[in-house]
Amino acid sequence: MLLKILQAGNPILRARSETLSVEEIKSYRIQQLIQLMVMTMRDAPGVGLAAPQVGESLQLTVIEDRDIYTMGWTEQQRKEKLRQPIPLQVCINPKLTILSTERALHYEGCLSLPGYVGVVPRALRVKIEALDEKGNAFVNIAEGWHARILQHEIDHLQGCLCIDHMDMHTFMSVDNYKRYS
Ligand code: ZN
Repeated sequence: MLLKILQAGNPILRARSETLSVEEIKSYRIQQLIQLMVMTMRDAPGVGLAAPQVGESLQLTVIEDRDIYTMGWTEQQRKEKLRQPIPLQVCINPKLTILSTERALHYEGCLSLPGYVGVVPRALRVKIEALDEKGNAFVNIAEGWHARILQHEIDHLQGCLCIDHMDMHTFMSVDNYKRYS
């Protein structure tokens, strides 16, 4: 079963989401939600999905950047975007700290705004403190594309969408992105 991904305009996407206790994380309901979110993210396909996007106002996101997504890329493209595969990562109640004032400018899209992309500046290096799917605390320092995905997903938990940070002059359809950029 796949979950329905809410589209921009749905008020749940603009709400601040609630934290989860360790007990709640271990509950059947949340374990099930995590599994369904992973399946939904892979099916889309996307490199991240936040609980508000599937109608749950909870501080929970799943992230995964599989190597098949960038299979046709040259080494140069990978380097430019600092993009490497990321194993599945579940982040609950995440606290994000920006570690670098340097910003990278790249086109970015969102499963809640399908068919469109635009340039979003994102910090190159961030620290994340969160709980995993078992409720264990972890700290992770992420760079490049991984840092971008974390900033995008954690924004969702605050009711913030990538269009809020986007350079709107660069907003375009995915078709035109493939054609012109
Ligand atoms: Zn998104």
